[in-house]
Amino acid sequence: MCNAPFRDAIGKRPYRSSYKTSNVALAISTNDNPEIRECYSLLGTIHDPEIPVLSILDLGIVRDIELQSPLQQEGQVRVTITSTYTGCPAMDTIAMLIRMELLKKGYKKVEIMTAISPAWTTDWMSQEGKQKLKVYGIAPPDKRFEIPADGIICPHCGSAHTRLLSEFGSTACKSLLQCNECKEPFDYFKCH
Ligand SMILES: [Zn+2]
Repeated sequence: MCNAPFRDAIGKRPYRSSYKTSNVALAISTNDNPEIRECYSLLGTIHDPEIPVLSILDLGIVRDIELQSPLQQEGQVRVTITSTYTGCPAMDTIAMLIRMELLKKGYKKVEIMTAISPAWTTDWMSQEGKQKLKVYGIAPPDKRFEIPADGIICPHCGSAHTRLLSEFGSTACKSLLQCNECKEPFDYFKCH
């Protein structure tokens, strides 16, 4: 399913991803090309503009890095990303940041592709990323809860006595809740 063909952002030509797993950490550690591994760690320094505590690897939006020609030669790389949700305004910024980092690294040609299928899911967010969210004060996505629902754990005090204030929080991918115990409002990163 992850190998389903998709088209690039402008729909010009079909492109087949070599990505075999939704687990980016696994993809990085098992990649036998040191230059690709280095590209991944470089992208791991890019943070989501909306949730700066998360890197784009934590979010799981980097789907594939294809080295078309190593730095020693032409220096051409293609990065495939998947938007967290359709029309996410942060994606243009993220694509620009990826391009800038790779150009700074010395690549001469950097292509950013957008994969539409399979759609991004909160399952692609790393466990480390979910932990970082909680520390940051955002309740991480949890399959047990669907908005609107009670029982989402307060990231501040750990209480399950929370209530929904608004289905949409600071961004469309989050909901705004309030804790009945510590009274703190907090965002919940919705599952999808
Ligand atoms: Zn609380």
